[in-house]
Amino acid sequence: MSVPISIQFPPVESDRLRALVDRFTTWAPSTYADGGFPEREMEELRRAGLLRITLPGEALDQERGHTAGVLRLLKEIGRGNLSVGRIYEGHLNALQLIKIYGTPEQRKRWYTDARAGHLFGVWNTQMADGVELHRKHDGGVRVAGSKSFCSGADRVTRPLITGVLRGDAPEDAGWQMAVLPLDEHRVKVDPTFWNPAGMRNSVSYKIDFSGIELGADDLLGGPEDYNRQPYLSGGAVRFAAVQLGGAAALLDATREYLRDLGRTEDPYQRTRVGQMAILVESGQLWLDRAGQLSDHSEDPAAVVHYANMVRTAIAGYCEQCLEMAQRSVGARGLLHPHPVARLHADLSMYLRQPAPDAALEAVGQYLLNGHGPAAH
Ligand SMILES: Cc1cc2nc3c(=O)[nH]c(=O)nc-3n(C[C@H](O)[C@H](O)[C@H](O)COP(=O)(O)OP(=O)(O)OC[C@H]3O[C@@H](n4cnc5c(N)ncnc54)[C@H](O)[C@@H]3O)c2cc1C
Repeated sequence: MSVPISIQFPPVESDRLRALVDRFTTWAPSTYADGGFPEREMEELRRAGLLRITLPGEALDQERGHTAGVLRLLKEIGRGNLSVGRIYEGHLNALQLIKIYGTPEQRKRWYTDARAGHLFGVWNTQMADGVELHRKHDGGVRVAGSKSFCSGADRVTRPLITGVLRGDAPEDAGWQMAVLPLDEHRVKVDPTFWNPAGMRNSVSYKIDFSGIELGADDLLGGPEDYNRQPYLSGGAVRFAAVQLGGAAALLDATREYLRDLGRTEDPYQRTRVGQMAILVESGQLWLDRAGQLSDHSEDPAAVVHYANMVRTAIAGYCEQCLEMAQRSVGARGLLHPHPVARLHADLSMYLRQPAPDAALEAVGQYLLNGHGPAAH
């Protein structure tokens, strides 16, 4: 049975969404202790219709914009459980790439799969033994190599993977996307890769796809489409939204802790909580504006520039929230299974996203190269 969730922007005020996030928060200690794929939570997302919410005709139909609403939704899911937010972000990212690069037939096929409850993901990161897609005579490809950090691991039945396309034709070169029906293939999953400081429940294992054969209609877009802007760097606002959800959860947990200990009258504690609230709200304002720009700007470079600022600002807010939460709860609050200890581990890990230095440098470069006013 599917429970419709109405998400408006502004703001996300759905009682059902709030109840769902509250359940995730309640379950978080046992999910964390289990360390595996967050079964209950993902099933709830599926039942609530959130795996299809960005598809045509749904509440956050991505063909009609709604980016700010999607970011608010991601933040809320992240607030409930950061690992669930990570896996869910990959699902929405894959559906967006399919919307942008898929043929009408591919969109129909994969949207039908998403409506049927298949979980998607985007697995781009790899190590020295990364993926190669060798073109076959029939137009399909034979896959060789592995991906690392495959969030959701084999519970993701429709992963979007990337790899170097190799073939005889001159156009067979570059970074190529493919969507795999993983439930129809046997792959070598390596859970030993994933012994992280936090985010254990994202089960971001290493997976070896060698030997899998895909049809030409499983390839998404053309070589190098994955790296096209503003979609590649602009997408950083989605992980920033999930991270901000983690900071919001830290604020909630810190407040709870101080109330339980009767430490709410202390001016230093009040000040820190006030600062945390300002940081979380600042992040929300960035996200809302990023959503507007992403839907309405016709300038890809400006969208990328803004996304670079958003991810940098929100990572900084999250780091400040982590520090203030630690100071507020002290050592006792950092003992597992206290929520602050768990959130500290998860958020610190999830803040590690690709090329943060390059993102900030690009912000400065954009301004130094540009001729318009610095802010608009
Ligand atoms: C919980 C979790 C889940 C994930 N899930 C997925 C997933 O589902 N799919 C997926 O594709 N990926 C996934 N990833 C991987 C993620 O997208 C990043 O690739 C990864 O987190 C990069 O982290 P890093 O700190 O190693 O980054 P790096 O980019 O290596 O950054 C580390 C530091 O090195 C600096 N640096 C970067 N490049 C250079 C350079 N050339 N020279 C000098 N310094 C440099 C950076 O600025 C930074 O200071 C996941 C990661 C995490 C933590």
